[in-house]
Amino acid sequence: MSNIDQLRNKIDEITIQMLKLLKERTDISKQIGELKKSSGLSVFDEKREEQLRTEVANLCKQIGLDESIGKKFLNFLLNESVKVQSDGKQTHLTIFLKAKTLEQQGKKIIHMEVGEPDFMPSPIIKSALAEAYDKGLVRYGPAQGMPKLREALAQYCTKKFGANIKTENILVSPGGRFSVFLAISTLLNPGDEIIVIEPAWPAYRDCAANAGVKVRTIATTLENSWDPSISEIENTINSNTKMIVLNYPNNPTGKVLSPKLQDQIIELAKRHDLYVLSDEIYSEYAFSEWKSILSNNYPKSIVIQSFSKSHAMTGLRIGYTITDPKIIEKMVKLQALCITNVAEPVQYAALKALEADTTQNARMVKSKISILVDEAKKIGLEFANPDGAMYLFAKINKPGFDGLEFTNRLLDHGVAVAPGDGFGSYRGFIRISACQDEGSLKKGMMILHEVLEEQ
Ligand code: PMP
Repeated sequence: MSNIDQLRNKIDEITIQMLKLLKERTDISKQIGELKKSSGLSVFDEKREEQLRTEVANLCKQIGLDESIGKKFLNFLLNESVKVQSDGKQTHLTIFLKAKTLEQQGKKIIHMEVGEPDFMPSPIIKSALAEAYDKGLVRYGPAQGMPKLREALAQYCTKKFGANIKTENILVSPGGRFSVFLAISTLLNPGDEIIVIEPAWPAYRDCAANAGVKVRTIATTLENSWDPSISEIENTINSNTKMIVLNYPNNPTGKVLSPKLQDQIIELAKRHDLYVLSDEIYSEYAFSEWKSILSNNYPKSIVIQSFSKSHAMTGLRIGYTITDPKIIEKMVKLQALCITNVAEPVQYAALKALEADTTQNARMVKSKISILVDEAKKIGLEFANPDGAMYLFAKINKPGFDGLEFTNRLLDHGVAVAPGDGFGSYRGFIRISACQDEGSLKKGMMILHEVLEEQ
């Protein structure tokens, strides 16, 4: 046998051995998952992961393996463990779907689990959709979005966010969710790391997992007013870290970062050459001092915006990304591959929606939040007053409280809220959405109180 064949046989043998070990590892991981489930432990265990990460780094040094590759391989394994252990995880969406099934069976449900304005979009949208038809805007178009809409958005953003935004900085997508998916899928590679500050909207984690990207969590606490620690972020950054995600005003806490802390995070990202994915879709509902990261003029920032919340257009599925044209180029390729372009009538409606006055929407959301805050205070929930967004993230101070069990039980009483667990390791929390009329909010909170007292 020639030398190369011998070596090839050896490499095959090693690969087979590695796969056998992977199978053994997966089986053990499943067993750990079952044990975690039965004892109410979170799937995620940052401390354990960190211990192993240090061991891997030391081993790499010892055996002369590139540390970055060693850690990427570890990230792959850790993500596999999360995948096999996350089966049946419940989030606000699971509760929403359960609530919908109950409604189909004739039950009345007060929806305080989803983030969807309960008011209609402006009538401008209705006439714009009809007008689009009359104008023949029912065809394929450029994947990046209608030039007229991108021009209008560039002007709108320049005025709104204090930055010089051009048409080539805009990518129109079917909703903020898809923009997040595009950014994570195109800018990151398997084994790369992304920093997510929790509690967080679950899609960042899910999009990362889908792309084989490892999430490094920065957990924040109610006690610390949901402020992330700069030194913790800095200590988490390593050669595989490629992106940090910000979402302020935040879903679920309603937190807005102080401009100083936000600037410090951007400075840190600049120093380490990280992308900053800033999901700013609640910016219209910021009730304390808020600024877009666009004002920092950092070329590696990717800002996500949407018409869903600001213009109550959730079902029309339209949002946009504001970023460097080089980044747009990458994202647009995947968008073209997946969807060709956003529906033309919807883009036209969005163009017209920019003329609508949304200050009334903001006023309504603010008043709904203040009703929720008053009701929550009356029944003794613990929370930080939201600075914006549409939610209240409340801690239930009862020994052994389990948000998952509670949200399911509350649903049986006709009220849907979201379990804290869907936003990170926050089992003792629930997220209550303010997207209901005053009567329903008060009734929902009354039932919630009754069910809490039952325990
Ligand atoms: N970002 C955040 C923080 C959200 O809460 C949501 C929806 N709940 C989205 C993005 C997605 O919005 P859409 O896709 O409807 O624009």
